[in-house]
Amino acid sequence: LVSRELKSDNTVVDVNGVKIGDEKLISIAGPCAIESERQIMDIACAVKKAGADMLRGGAYKPRTSPYAFQGLGEDGLKLLAQAGQETGLRVVTEVVDPRDVELVASYADMLQIGARNMQNYRLLQEIGASKKPVILKRGISATIEEWLMAAEYILYNGNTNVVLCERGIRTYETATRNTLDLNAIPLLKELTHLPVIVDPSHATGLWRLVPSVSMGVIAAGADGLIIEVHNDPSHALSDGPQSILPERFAELMVNLKALAAII
Ligand code: PEP
Ligand code: MN
Repeated sequence: LVSRELKSDNTVVDVNGVKIGDEKLISIAGPCAIESERQIMDIACAVKKAGADMLRGGAYKPRTSPYAFQGLGEDGLKLLAQAGQETGLRVVTEVVDPRDVELVASYADMLQIGARNMQNYRLLQEIGASKKPVILKRGISATIEEWLMAAEYILYNGNTNVVLCERGIRTYETATRNTLDLNAIPLLKELTHLPVIVDPSHATGLWRLVPSVSMGVIAAGADGLIIEVHNDPSHALSDGPQSILPERFAELMVNLKALAAII
């Protein structure tokens, strides 16, 4: 069902009016985690002003350590929905448990399946049945074939609103958090009709690299970006070192627009 052979025209995923996979480059921005009303509102207003199309923010955080901040849960979902309403931005957030799909879908315009859950088949089936637009991130060590088969689960269960997100994979290189698979972008465009976006924040783990990597993946044909933006990265409860400041995001948006105009 995900194959380009079966469907030659591009799938456009409509997130309550924001169309992903259409001509226009889509930018999704926001903090790794929702931390407080003030934090999410300040960041939402800043990224809206910079021209973002959607707001991201995690309420259920799949952290490597059980001692790290785990997210605000449903309270976080409420704050995210409120920030979305007040700015007019559509919101996307991760769901980690199949039992939470309905709850998360009641607050969010779009769901996210994180890298660690790419092959959580019960979660894929549940989101398939929900028909809610979803970002499917590439697993930490997943091949493109495994990733596409995970997407196949969602389509097979009834949901065609799937956006693939390359977020870097684990390699022998440790200088960056992950290694971005740039090849995946043009290759996926051949193999599937689904939209492809890139997360340069998790791909690099280093905020300094985020602007140039963002430009590179758009030049390579990605349909959009999902970027971590924080107004106080050194105090962020999650992923501060890879989060860019709102003013840097605004500058990047200007450069992305110029690039989009020539490709
Ligand atoms: C995130 O988007 O904050 C996240 C946890 O990403 P990933 O699943 O790609 O690691
Ligand atoms: Mn993160």
